[in-house]
Order: sequence, then C-alpha cells, then structure tokens
Amino acid sequence: KGPDPAISVINERMETVKHKILVLSGKGGVGKSTFTTNLAFALSFDENTQVGIMDVDICGPSLPKMTGLEGEQIHQSSTGWSPVYVSDNLAVMSVGFMLSNPDDAVIWRGPKKNGMSLNVIYFHGVPSVLTNSCTSGMIKQFLKDVDWGDLDYLVVDTPPGTSDEHLSVVNYLKESSITGAVIITTPQEVSLQDVRKEINFCKKVGIPIIGVVENMSGFVCPKCTKESMIFAPTTGGARRMCEEMGVSFLGAIPLDPRIGRSCDLGESFLDQYVDSPAYTAYMKVIEQI
Ligand code: ADP
Repeated sequence: KGPDPAISVINERMETVKHKILVLSGKGGVGKSTFTTNLAFALSFDENTQVGIMDVDICGPSLPKMTGLEGEQIHQSSTGWSPVYVSDNLAVMSVGFMLSNPDDAVIWRGPKKNGMSLNVIYFHGVPSVLTNSCTSGMIKQFLKDVDWGDLDYLVVDTPPGTSDEHLSVVNYLKESSITGAVIITTPQEVSLQDVRKEINFCKKVGIPIIGVVENMSGFVCPKCTKESMIFAPTTGGARRMCEEMGVSFLGAIPLDPRIGRSCDLGESFLDQYVDSPAYTAYMKVIEQI
C-alpha cells in the first residue's frame, strides 16, 4: 500500500499555518475544550495574530457553544470549507457545525440503541454507521478540506484518550510538523495515570510535549477565602509526575465557577475577570506556550 494521497493535500493546507498546537487529555471532562477555547481567545487578543481552532472531538464537539457560535453553519467555497469566525482573527471549525443541517449534513446523532446514541454519517445522502474508520475519514476530511488561510496558530481540540481517533489526527498532521502538545489533567491519580499514557504516546509518535496543565486544582471559597482541594487531598501530583517523566509542568488552574459560566455563555473568561487568581494562573500557563 502506497502513501495516503490525502497526506500531501493536508501538508499543503498546513503550509499556511505557522504553529500547530494539539490539546490532549487522557480523560474527558478535565477541561480540555475549555483550555483550548481560552488559549485561542488569549492568542487572538493580539489583533495581528491569526488564530484557528479545530474541534476534532467528534463525539462531543463543544467548541461551537464555548465560542458563542452555536447554530452557525459552515460554507463550502471553491477553495474548501470555510470556518466560522468569532472575530476577524479567530476562526473555528467543528463537527458541531454539521449536526443540525440535514440537507448538506455530513453527520448527526442518529437513533438511540440500547440507550446509546448511534452516530450516523451521511455521505451524499447515503447513511452508514460511524465506525472508527469513518471517524478517521472525517478527521482526514477536516484536515484536507478546511480553508484556514494564513494562520499564526491552529489550536486542535482532540478527542480524549489514545484511541484510533487520536492516532488519526496525529498521523495526518505528523508530516506537516506539530509544534507541540499541551496535556490537560485534573489532580486525581486516575487522571494522572492516563496522562502518563498520553506522554508515552507523544514520545512514541515523536510529538514534542510543550507541557502539562493541572486544571481544577483547588477551590478558594469566596466566603471564607480558604482553599480546598476538591479532587485530591494534596496537590503537586502533576508537578511530581512531570519531574519523573522529564516534561514541563506549565502550572495549575483553580476551579472557578466563572470559567464554566463564561464557556456556557460562549464568552472569553480571560477578558472579563482579569483580577482573579484563575486569570493569573491561566495567563502564566499561556505565556509559556
Ligand atoms: P473536556 O473537554 O476535557 O471534556 P470541558 O472543557 O468540556 O472538558 O470541561 C468540563 C466542564 O468543566 C465544563 O462544564 C467546563 O465549563 C468546566 N470547567 C473546566 N475547567 C474549569 C475550571 N478551571 N473551573 C471551573 N469549571 C471548569
């Protein structure tokens, strides 16, 4: 079997993208999409910096909501699929934009079976169940067909885990050189265990690791101002793991309900709560990227 011809198309697309950053997590629900959104918002605060977000979390695309673009649709132009813009210099592409557009739909959540929603993919009106190979085909199509134009940064929100979906993003982007991966974890040992696997996975496939971020790391009660460690009795687990594994620890971001609220409203937390400890922590991490 010869080389996949899609790879050269992807490489060509990626030629106009200076930095490609993958945001990874071993588990879902640790704040990966939230981090992706806030990182992209922060990078786009400089209006001379062109930023794109690619949401390839096929099974749980949350970027349209988090960027305030829910209900928007992508358009096809002669040069490919056009992303949806939050502002002049922040573009978003997500499977989520394709979910409720049956006429041109590529994919939507289909009938429930045994309590689980079955993903159905439509290619030219012909339905087929979304299998791993379809998923990877979808990711390939994303990388191939989206016309990003010139970008300084492309931040990629990946599906959690070291699954086939993961491997496909990495495999398709590998040749066009990934700048690096940021790995998001919570302080719990169960999450850290998966992060060790992620780190090994990155090392194996040759993706540089920018560093690890510990999210939801402690909560300062607004009433008594005492800090509680919600997810682990002690903190520092992620830092220690980084030392053991020889990767950078980028910092710890506290639990702050305003982070979740801003995401639900599709707004940037970082331009609203500039004097919060969470803002300081977030910016400290982002400065290192
Ligand atoms: P993932 O992409 O890893 O599945 P999400 O980014 O969707 O996780 O985050 C899961 C939930 O946690 C969301 O409701 C989000 O708003 C919330 N969240 C993420 N980080 C924080 C934080 N530091 N403080 C408070 N809520 C957070």
